[in-house]
Formats: sequence, structure tokens, C-alpha cells
Amino acid sequence: MSHEGIRIVNAEQARREDQAAHELPREMITPVKVRVHKSEGTGMEIEWQDGHKSSWTFGWLRNGCPCATCHDEREKAGRAPGEPVAKPAALLPMYQAPPRPDVVTPVGRYAISFEWNDGHKSGIYSWDYLRRHG
Ligand SMILES: [Zn+2]
Repeated sequence: MSHEGIRIVNAEQARREDQAAHELPREMITPVKVRVHKSEGTGMEIEWQDGHKSSWTFGWLRNGCPCATCHDEREKAGRAPGEPVAKPAALLPMYQAPPRPDVVTPVGRYAISFEWNDGHKSGIYSWDYLRRHG
């Protein structure tokens, strides 16, 4: 058997290539209004140029952090972006402050980043990523 001509791509690479092949139209990934309800601690809302509105809780955004580390952790655990980590039932519930950002920073024209109250801040949430998961 010959493997000649067979190109092996890992799932992540395949996903990226797939995503690049299905670029969203500009009006779908251009926000006209971005509201981050930081003091209320609820979440973020975006109104897009095509009229669609999306909203995310801070919990979703924290669990959907697109940084490489969080992405790899989700891949390994088979979690979808935004899906919380399942807590082992045997452990006593420990209080965990609900995720909320301490600092919100625009990243160029294409993304937004959060410095979370747990100290994590490496995720860059592109408009494209957000629109796909809105
Ligand atoms: Zn992360």
C-alpha cells in the first residue's frame, strides 16, 4: 500500500483551512455597536453591520477563550468553545467568582481582548470568531 498523494492534516489545520475557505462577508463581521456590560457583570452584546445582534455571557467568553492554551485544553477534553469544564461530582463545590473582565481592550479593528478576573488575558477574540459563535 502506498501513502503517496495522501496529505495528512491534523484536525486544527483542517478546521483553519475550512474556515479560511468560508470567509464571512465583511458586513457580518463588522460591528456597529459593541456593549460590554462590565460593571453589571453580565456579558457582551454586538450589533453587526448586517443588522444581526449577538450576545455572550462572560462565562461563555471565558470558557470560549480562543488562545492556544485554552483551545488545546478544550480539544483534549472534547469541549466546544464556551462549554464549561465539568466539575468532578466527588469534590465539594468550591466557590469560584463568576468570570468577568477587569480590563477590556480593543485589538486593532478586528478583535477585542479581555483581562479576566482570574488573571488570564491571552485570548484575542476576533469579530470573525465571535460572529461564528454568537
Ligand atoms: Zn485562553
